[in-house]
Amino acid sequence: MKKKRTTTERYTLADLENWREAARDAQPPIRLGVFGDPVSHSLSPQMQNAALKHCKIDVQYARFHIRANELRSALPVLAGLDFVGVNLTVPHKIAAVNHIDDIDESARRVGAVNTIKIDDGKLRGSNTDGRGFSRAIREEFSVDLRDMRVMVLGAGGAARAVAMQCAKESCERLVIVNRTFEKAKELATELQDFFTGPKVFGPVPRLQAVPWEEASIRFQIGNVDLIVNATPVGLNRADASPIPARLLAPHVMIYDTIYSDKRTPFVAAAIEAGARAANGLSMLLHQGALAFEIWFEREAPLDVMREAL
Ligand code: NDP
Repeated sequence: MKKKRTTTERYTLADLENWREAARDAQPPIRLGVFGDPVSHSLSPQMQNAALKHCKIDVQYARFHIRANELRSALPVLAGLDFVGVNLTVPHKIAAVNHIDDIDESARRVGAVNTIKIDDGKLRGSNTDGRGFSRAIREEFSVDLRDMRVMVLGAGGAARAVAMQCAKESCERLVIVNRTFEKAKELATELQDFFTGPKVFGPVPRLQAVPWEEASIRFQIGNVDLIVNATPVGLNRADASPIPARLLAPHVMIYDTIYSDKRTPFVAAAIEAGARAANGLSMLLHQGALAFEIWFEREAPLDVMREAL
């Protein structure tokens, strides 16, 4: 009897190159997936497969362990197979921009792709992280970014999506903090056209890049409502919180894009400081639901996906 392969298995570039053989026994057929390195921790398969099953779409979503130097070979192979699309995670989001046929406005502005749809053999890239983040903030804290003074930690792919979304939704104030200060300044420069309006509160500028230093962060915390961690600091449970509890205050909302079923170090620090906090599971859910909507042009079953996470 043939062994039925399940989505807990990982596929590789070699499998993709020999796909008809590698996926011969997969039932339902694998026509969606996530490319990453590492990829074994990704929660996207369980979330997307629950949605596919619920919607009676006879397709399976799998994990693909694709290394950084393999992306440019993997994407063209994908275009020749009958895939619906893929998600991209670390380290592929920025590199993919140069290896696909076209990118939409969301991906172009962020400079990173997290969702690819295959359309007539063409790879079309989008980025759902920013809109997923916006929906997550509304769900977690019942607020809109439009009303927020936001501090973003990081200037990489996730931080760019978050900062761009805050700018597009005309947040009151945006502070970008990054270990490599130069990158924070570059991102602020890119966003300055969004912040020319009259909303100015007190002596602080509406848009500011700030070095990752205690004194600067301490000052800024008095002038922000929401702090978003968009760095990997806290991915390891042994990591310190990106901002220690003693600098946080009860008035700030804390959103850690790192997702976990336990408290991340940043969420733990927020709770210690008496602040409201949430981790990135809600952003994962909403960016995934938006990807599903791009692939199938229908509403995603949000409750089913949430339950699966
Ligand atoms: P990138 O590698 O593109 O960017 C990493 C950023 O973190 C850079 O700004 C980097 O600063 C900073 N950084 C890295 N290490 C440290 C450190 N030790 N101390 C201070 N700053 C540091 O990664 P991504 O933006 O793609 O991902 C970041 C995190 O976002 C991921 O770990 C993931 O958990 C989360 N994420 C969550 C999503 C969700 O749906 N919930 C979706 C996407 C991402 P520098 O410029 O100095 O190198």
